[in-house]
Amino acid sequence: MASIWSWVQAKIPAGVEVFDAHAHIGADVDGRTMTADGMRDRMEAAGVKRSIVFPLNDPNARDDYSGPNDVVWNAHEEHPSSFVPFFRLNPHLDYDREFGRCVERGFMGLKLHPVSQTFELDDPRVVRLLGMATEIDLPVLIHTGFAMQRIVEPLLPTVEAHPGLRLILGHCAMVEVLSAARVFEGHPNVLFETSVVQAKDLYELCSSVDPSRICYGSDIPYGDLPSTLHAILAAAEAAGVPDADLPGILSKNITRWFP
Ligand SMILES: [Zn+2]
Repeated sequence: MASIWSWVQAKIPAGVEVFDAHAHIGADVDGRTMTADGMRDRMEAAGVKRSIVFPLNDPNARDDYSGPNDVVWNAHEEHPSSFVPFFRLNPHLDYDREFGRCVERGFMGLKLHPVSQTFELDDPRVVRLLGMATEIDLPVLIHTGFAMQRIVEPLLPTVEAHPGLRLILGHCAMVEVLSAARVFEGHPNVLFETSVVQAKDLYELCSSVDPSRICYGSDIPYGDLPSTLHAILAAAEAAGVPDADLPGILSKNITRWFP
């Protein structure tokens, strides 16, 4: 492991402030937890400067996710230079109030999880929510990975209808990565996030998507920083991505949304 980490450190270009575009703070129904302090310890150990953080599939979410969203907001208030706060919603429930409350408060993005909250990406309530985010230029990260049945086909009409929508494909659409790469090529506001994706899919991502559209993520507490950094850097190298594009993948492509 020591030699792998040395390889990662040598591969990260000097001066790059690594930005993790996918991490969780709080508790999950599956028993996983992560605190703001635990997150900061991991970031410091791995030299990661900033992280987008949002709730897990929280047993305390009740109706509107307000409790878990508050945990994330408190972490951001304590460490504004470390944490970029996203809030989470359940599209099945009346979400307008919590959407308004979080936007008013200053949350910088929205996280949606179609598997945990059991919805399809072309559900009218989801389409409406994505329209609301577009209207106020609020970035959205959607889980497009493990256990998803339909990704590109239900999402495309909304992306086409809202070219301004700033969308992060969490786990880079995984099994649909090649079709996502082709279909979203002409939509520069769609980014592909790399956490906990199989090496084969990461290689295909790096081989088929412009590097300016890729952003690194860890999915803490499901992934960890050393292994996810290794995975994307190894995939980029195998796919022949020039070293000059690594600062974008590790930091700049997402930082421009959160200067
Ligand atoms: Zn996640």
